[in-house]
Amino acid sequence: VSRFEDVAMAPPDPILGVSEAFRACTNESKLNLGVGAYRTEDLQPYVLNVVKKAEKLMLEKGENKEYLPIEGLAAFNKATAELLLGADNHSIQSQRVATVQGLSGTGSLRLAAAFINRYCPNSKVLISSPTWGNHKNIFNDAGVPWSEYRYYDPKTVGLDFEGMIADIKAAPSGSFILLHGCAHNPTGIDPTPEQWTKIADVLEEKGHTPFFDVAYQGFASGSLDEDAFSVRLFVERGFEVFVAQSYSKNLGLYSERIGAINVICSSSGVANRVKSQLKRLARPMYSNPPVHGARIVANVVGDPNLFSEWKAEMEEMAGRIKNVRKRLYDNLSQKDKSGKDWSFILRQIGMFSYTGLNTSQSENMTNKWHVYMTKDGRISLAGLSLAKCDYLADAIIDSYH
Ligand code: PMP
Repeated sequence: VSRFEDVAMAPPDPILGVSEAFRACTNESKLNLGVGAYRTEDLQPYVLNVVKKAEKLMLEKGENKEYLPIEGLAAFNKATAELLLGADNHSIQSQRVATVQGLSGTGSLRLAAAFINRYCPNSKVLISSPTWGNHKNIFNDAGVPWSEYRYYDPKTVGLDFEGMIADIKAAPSGSFILLHGCAHNPTGIDPTPEQWTKIADVLEEKGHTPFFDVAYQGFASGSLDEDAFSVRLFVERGFEVFVAQSYSKNLGLYSERIGAINVICSSSGVANRVKSQLKRLARPMYSNPPVHGARIVANVVGDPNLFSEWKAEMEEMAGRIKNVRKRLYDNLSQKDKSGKDWSFILRQIGMFSYTGLNTSQSENMTNKWHVYMTKDGRISLAGLSLAKCDYLADAIIDSYH
């Protein structure tokens, strides 16, 4: 008999579990729109050309496999903060940014959560309703209390801006407000620049700290700078800001686990101390981060040719997703005779579309149409081809009505 006999079966992960179910399905029409991973028009995984070139360079240089310092690869940390904020940003010039390489977006969020738990034990984090499913797990496991602010308005399939503002205002002063830098997951609905300004006003009024999750810089609009607008606005206004970054999507480095946590502080002294404590938290958790992805990023960003090639590839990925979005909208509008307005799909941005399908309708998508997706009605357009839009539109219309 096992001493672990009483260990209960954990529920499948609501996002990664979808891929498991997809693999087990034998129907030839099946579509995997669950996980957010970019696919080519042939629905194949994609390794960016700049990544292959950077890896070739790395091999030629014959770099070693020694441990990195706890904070990660220096060239990566410099590149990632500059990419986020702009190299000439005052916070970088005045050395007010604490950057620590993380285990992609998730690990960087987790490290920041551990920091909040240790140094701001009486603060809570506000997360959007809905949000990426793992946010709640991350803060739960780090022992950080959280609650939700309104974000999604089912009536318009748009932003509930008034609800959002009201809930952020009602939160205890000095809360951390988790914001998606761009391409909100799962809704694909972002605030407008004017709305971002109002959000900043309320955070300032309440003494809240913005905590940005930036998983899609350059991948949403196709422009690195445009997608960093929200973060830069808050930094410009003088907030101390947390930013978790990920290179899973924009460089396609999903399994390399490369990202960073940046804390923009009000002085270089604070930044130094914050960084020292982030390192202290990282050391007993995983000691130091993996080097391969960090070298890829540093090589791509550090070489003007590779950098511009990357931007072109990013635009191409973002463009393919926009094309699919448009085609899906066209098919839905043409096929649906109910008069429903599908234009909300066009107003969303990034790899996801929130269809407005509820749990049982989403189940119909999977059970009847073999379209694998999360039960919240989210579909990943990155896993869709132009050729499959027609089939998907039939499935959505059937499930809706
Ligand atoms: N935040 C958001 C909003 C995401 O969508 C994702 C990826 N799905 C992540 C963080 C983290 O992904 P990763 O750990 O692969 O960087």
